[in-house]
Amino acid sequence: ARLTSSMLYLDNVSVSFDGFRAINELSLAVGPGEMRAIIGPNGAGKTTMMDIITGKTRPDEGTVFFDGKIDLTKHDESSIATMGIGRKFQKPTVFENHSVETNLLLAMSGGLRIKGLLFGSRKTDESDRIDNILVTIRLEARRHDLAENLSHGQKQWLEIGMLLAQDPKLLLVDEPVAGMTDAETAETARLLREIAQTHTVIVVEHDMDFIRDLGVKVTCLHEGSVLAEGSLDHVSADQRVVDVYLGR
Ligand code: ADP
Repeated sequence: ARLTSSMLYLDNVSVSFDGFRAINELSLAVGPGEMRAIIGPNGAGKTTMMDIITGKTRPDEGTVFFDGKIDLTKHDESSIATMGIGRKFQKPTVFENHSVETNLLLAMSGGLRIKGLLFGSRKTDESDRIDNILVTIRLEARRHDLAENLSHGQKQWLEIGMLLAQDPKLLLVDEPVAGMTDAETAETARLLREIAQTHTVIVVEHDMDFIRDLGVKVTCLHEGSVLAEGSLDHVSADQRVVDVYLGR
């Protein structure tokens, strides 16, 4: 049931680097439309887990099911990228000398553009989608501004918008609020909650106030496995989580 009802299901996944087990019999299920926060100390395996989902790292053991049926371990990174999994790394990588709108247009997948051309609806389809994304990422008023003139936080939002432009089913978001102001951090929680109404989202973050704002289920990784899982209150009351992470 977990296999077919999950948007993402890691089943007993392990991977070693030079004999060091970075991911150790990790099992994790994220349901469709769920937003999950991943926490854990440095070296816990958070990045490696994301690398396994996107096909950048192939696990030694275990299976990763996407969208109920697709075994991601049988596909390489470039084909997984076309399946509707979008990843945002910690540092924003936008096209600095292009406008906000052009950044979004550049991010739109070729497939969607071709579909629009075939049905003769390219202009309206694209501009409707861009309008919607601009509202979601709070950059409506900055549409024609160069990306280089955005704040750090706004660049992060633009990059989230570039992910949305690719129309993914699953978004992987790595430390979105690192370096943001408190106001930007609070706005990012609202923005991601909106996105999660129509997408499955996995967020890796260290900012516990932000995670509290997200109000979602939390998984704490440690030594490549799940140490604790549940509400933030449940996880942060777990003495093992305090010992390896929160109490530090
Ligand atoms: P986190 O993102 O939670 O900080 P990582 O997934 O980056 O943790 O790392 C988990 C462990 O795996 C760390 O001990 C790290 O040094 C090791 N590791 C990750 N990637 C590699 C790699 N390509 N080669 C060797 N060791 C790696």
